[in-house]
Amino acid sequence: MSTSVNLYQEAAANVAAAAETIDMDPKVRAILSGPKNELIVNFPVQRDNGEWELLQGYRIQHNNVLGPYKGGLRFHPAVDLDEVRALATWMTFKCALVGLPFGGAKGGVAIDPAQYSAGELERVVRRFTHSLGENIGPEYDIPAPDVGTDARTMAWMMDTYLNSRGSGERQGARRVVTGKPVELGGSLGRAEATGRGAAYALRHFYGELDRTLDGETAAIQGFGNVGSHGAKALGELGVSLLAVADATGAIHNSGGLDIDALVRHVAAAGGVAGFGDSESISTQEFFALDVNILMPAALEAQITETNVDLVRADVILEAANGPVTAAAAMALDDRGIEVIPDILANAGGVIVSYYEWVQNKTSDQWSATDVDTRLRDTMWNACDRVAAQRENRGCTRREAAYIEASERLQSVYSLRGIFP
Ligand code: NAD
Repeated sequence: MSTSVNLYQEAAANVAAAAETIDMDPKVRAILSGPKNELIVNFPVQRDNGEWELLQGYRIQHNNVLGPYKGGLRFHPAVDLDEVRALATWMTFKCALVGLPFGGAKGGVAIDPAQYSAGELERVVRRFTHSLGENIGPEYDIPAPDVGTDARTMAWMMDTYLNSRGSGERQGARRVVTGKPVELGGSLGRAEATGRGAAYALRHFYGELDRTLDGETAAIQGFGNVGSHGAKALGELGVSLLAVADATGAIHNSGGLDIDALVRHVAAAGGVAGFGDSESISTQEFFALDVNILMPAALEAQITETNVDLVRADVILEAANGPVTAAAAMALDDRGIEVIPDILANAGGVIVSYYEWVQNKTSDQWSATDVDTRLRDTMWNACDRVAAQRENRGCTRREAAYIEASERLQSVYSLRGIFP
């Protein structure tokens, strides 16, 4: 993303700091300091008006020591190589942290999906998938939805991939992507997983403080997949949602927003702007709101050195990837504002993606309750381990999460050895 913050440098700095703390083997440190594979593909797509465009797509595979590469596919105009490198790095550490047998990857195409018709988007997805060729696969690299992509995107990816396989391979190959529509082998609970997982991480944090969430107030940035499902999950815990910001603007109601009505409004209008029963506020006013919980669920680098002083929340729940820059995180820590870090807070998505992959492998379908119970237990197990690291080492929760993930990666490398 084109901000003054280089996300990849930030991701690399987190990794290097954890490596230093645990005195990581220099060989492992070197391996984790950069992605294994970086793929750039240029592919032509015909627009509805007959004109042709050459689009550029990326797939960055950071590390696969724990299992197949795993990570989302993003369609957003600000996508660039360093952003995708950062997102791929975070996936490696996220999967290691929550104990999944997956590595880290990410893909992206720098387009604004809102400017493309459904037919144009389908051509983009199919052509990009075809260009990736053998660089994705059900045991090799498994994409999923991210910003600007969804279950429909995954259906097109899966169909394109299957059509390029021999008939004997096709049935097993549908797990080449996760986050599919349930009818095509998607898991119940996958759409809700990232938002619900974030709510579980928050509940764990409140539990550590011996407090409940009932009656707390929240502001959420981003009302797409993660933000809207996160809002519902927080609502179930008794949290009142006072404000939401997205690409179209920011809205506020001091008495609490009606989440179901807002979901319907966003589906019809494309964003939160213009929602009745609320007042429009500026982005600055949004970040400065006096709420207990601030949940960024949109893009990276949203809370930076320039606006961190505005923040009045008690806790920041990083449901997006990289929304709080390193400098802002330090300033928040100085003020005693807790940050529940992204690689923990938003791990619910990849956790249930893993469940989807397992269900596809075993031709099984788990109930929504089964998925949600497993998600909760896996999140709370990771939260316990991060809290213990934090306590033992006297560090921030973000540092603790990287240390915990790094210890797992280091131990796997030391058991396997490094070839040659
Ligand atoms: P989405 O495309 O469904 O929603 C994105 C939201 O961000 C939309 O509401 C959009 O309006 C808003 N947005 C875009 N630009 C903005 C801007 N400049 N200012 C304010 N809001 C803006 O995406 P998503 O899947 O909900 O992903 C959101 C975040 O969560 C991303 O950081 C993503 O990497 C992360 N994440 C997603 C998943 C998942 O399962 N989808 C899993 C883990 C992490």
